[in-house]
Amino acid sequence: LYNMVQDLKGNIRVYCRIRPVSPEVQNVIDFIGEDGSLVVIDPKPLKDGKRIFQFNHVFGPSSSQDEVFRDTQSLVRSVMDGYNVCMFAYGQTGSGKTHTMYGPPGGSTKEWGISYLALNDLFKLSDQRRDLTKYEIQVQMVEIYNEQVHDLLAEDSGIRSCMSVNGLALPDATLCPVKSTMDVINLMKLGDMRRSIGSTAINSRSSRSHSILSVHVYGADTSGSMLRSCLHLVDLAGSERVDKSEVTGDGLREAQHINKSLSCLVDVITALAQKNSHIPYRNSKLTLLLQNSLGGNSKTLMLAHVNPEGDSLGETMSTLKFAQKVSAV
Ligand code: ADP
Ligand code: MG
Repeated sequence: LYNMVQDLKGNIRVYCRIRPVSPEVQNVIDFIGEDGSLVVIDPKPLKDGKRIFQFNHVFGPSSSQDEVFRDTQSLVRSVMDGYNVCMFAYGQTGSGKTHTMYGPPGGSTKEWGISYLALNDLFKLSDQRRDLTKYEIQVQMVEIYNEQVHDLLAEDSGIRSCMSVNGLALPDATLCPVKSTMDVINLMKLGDMRRSIGSTAINSRSSRSHSILSVHVYGADTSGSMLRSCLHLVDLAGSERVDKSEVTGDGLREAQHINKSLSCLVDVITALAQKNSHIPYRNSKLTLLLQNSLGGNSKTLMLAHVNPEGDSLGETMSTLKFAQKVSAV
């Protein structure tokens, strides 16, 4: 029955996670309900001074990595049954996207983000099912920066641009076979190093680009039937609106590319919800790459992140409104 209810609800789910802040600062999120609702206090008086948002789930500031993972586990596991899945972290820079997806760099297993917990679970499942199905898992790691796709696992050192990206086939990026989560963590280290090449401030670059870890699963069962599916784990660029009057040159170009690709993502999700015959995947590299895991039978999870500090209220409202829009799809 649970699966049926999920099916009726459609294939897009939206969770919201609120990052912790120090107790001294003003917190604009006033209430988190068990039912996935949250209340934002808006100091610029709306009618009653507050606004309620509703999602599939809300994780409060004290939620653990494991709690978030457990609510995504059935989705992650469906990849092993042949479904394509896409999980993407959305929110302004500093709202906790990377924390949720990967955890602190060099963090202990207790602090592992959901990407590693998911992979760990896939390896465990693959082992449990080994008498019935032989699985092979391969990963790709790419970054989209200024509408250019970079292969972060290319053999030659440095960043290689992928020439062809065809949403229907694998993108032209290095595929690395992996046997354990540690294999993936080591590859991620390499990828992160590559990412910092040509960029003086790694943090600013990583918040201005989308990073995608694609997990390709191949399965062959004893009856000879094959399955092939993909889990995309996406850490999106910061969603903050950049004041055009204040940025010039590189910053402006970055901001325009980010705004464009995030709005293309909404356009695709909206077109899918309206069951349009034309889905505008080709309008951005991000949607082209995620094409096989957005729409059709695939399952999508948006993880909206907010920083509850008063200073971030504007961005928090815009993230929550965006997430609400996706949620209504
Ligand atoms: P983003 O990737 O959205 O820019 P980060 O994940 O880098 O944001 O988070 C910004 C800072 O806040 C980091 O120092 C991170 O460790 C911390 N942080 C974010 N979310 C949490 C959380 N849920 N628990 C503990 N620390 C967090
Ligand atoms: Mg980040």
